[in-house]
Amino acid sequence: MARVTIDRVEKTYKGNVRAVKGIDLTIPDGQFVVLVGPSGCGKSTTLRMIAGLEDISGGTISIGDRVVNNVPPKDRDIAMVFQNYALYPHMTVYQNMAFGLRLRKAPKSEIEKRVRDASSILGLDEYLQRKPKALSGGQRQRVALGRAIVREPACFLFDEPLSNLDAKLRVTMRSELKALHQRLKTTTVYVTHDQEEAMTLGDLVVVMADGEIQQAGSPDQVFRAPVNRFVAGFVGMPPMNFLEGRLQGSGDAIVWKESASNGAEIAVPPPLARHAAGSSGQPAVLGVRPGAITLDPDAPDNRSFEATVEVVEPLGEMTDIRLTTASGAALTARVSSVDGSNPGIGDRVRVTLDADRIHLFEPGPFGRSLDAPATPASTPGGTEAA
Ligand code: ADP
Repeated sequence: MARVTIDRVEKTYKGNVRAVKGIDLTIPDGQFVVLVGPSGCGKSTTLRMIAGLEDISGGTISIGDRVVNNVPPKDRDIAMVFQNYALYPHMTVYQNMAFGLRLRKAPKSEIEKRVRDASSILGLDEYLQRKPKALSGGQRQRVALGRAIVREPACFLFDEPLSNLDAKLRVTMRSELKALHQRLKTTTVYVTHDQEEAMTLGDLVVVMADGEIQQAGSPDQVFRAPVNRFVAGFVGMPPMNFLEGRLQGSGDAIVWKESASNGAEIAVPPPLARHAAGSSGQPAVLGVRPGAITLDPDAPDNRSFEATVEVVEPLGEMTDIRLTTASGAALTARVSSVDGSNPGIGDRVRVTLDADRIHLFEPGPFGRSLDAPATPASTPGGTEAA
């Protein structure tokens, strides 16, 4: 096992495409780290540079104590699992798993032991003599994992390994992967565009956008204390709601006022107001997660505002309610479903915000959080839970 260190790593493709713009990341030994972000943000390029499948334009990558910039992939002591796991169709499960070790001329008894161990961990014992075409999608993905496990590498690299599976199987395999990591404790770097996959799998979640790391932290940190509006909007489903406005007042009596003339006005709770001190008149985007909204007709005016129900989506235990504010801004509330109490379309309701779960951001899609004093974007944690 090994720690992976990424130091000021850059990648510029032909045509001056700056896919990765100088990122720093330390992946502690034995941790499961997920690189997550929208398509094109540079996560696969980062993974492929760790694997050695892509040259590095600048910076260094180390696996353990060894700088691997110029080490060929086969000598990096890594094993990679891709979305298209491409098993050899003419080989049995056993032969597929043994293939890499045979190429490396491992002794037969050693191959036998490692394949048997991996197949027992992955529940593949009864399929060892089958060909891939006689397996389900999930079983094939397990064989692909088996091929990686038998190598006993210092580090696993996964590139969207579950995206070819149907939704239900993806969730099952996700749990299996997590259990597997808890058992083997091999350092793992996992790439996905799916924030839910990132949150459920990662010890450390690294949110990327536009070739840069926006935030690296525990799932709880990136969810509760996003460093900017991008992270706040990317992590969590349904996404955080954002309303444009500005701050007014001073001391502990700061209010956030929606931009429109008939807009909402919300008292900024004291801890947040302290950070925002001296910022009266400053434009600020208010962020609130759907789950931090209740529809309470008796709420105090300075924590609530009126809105109109547009769509009601029952989800079983919870119901999503899509609303528009008086100024026309869209908002989603996720509330507990209580028999017969859902509002109807066109109803006017009072939207109440949980004061402890209000966030404020500077304007713009990457607007910095005003929730806490500034911290460097790539430092895990560092911001107070909000
Ligand atoms: P992600 O995995 O986050 O979807 P990638 O790392 O694949 O993103 O790509 C990051 C950026 O680099 C994208 O803009 C993509 O178009 C570009 N890119 C990826 N591979 C190449 C390549 N071989 N040549 C030129 N540009 C590339």
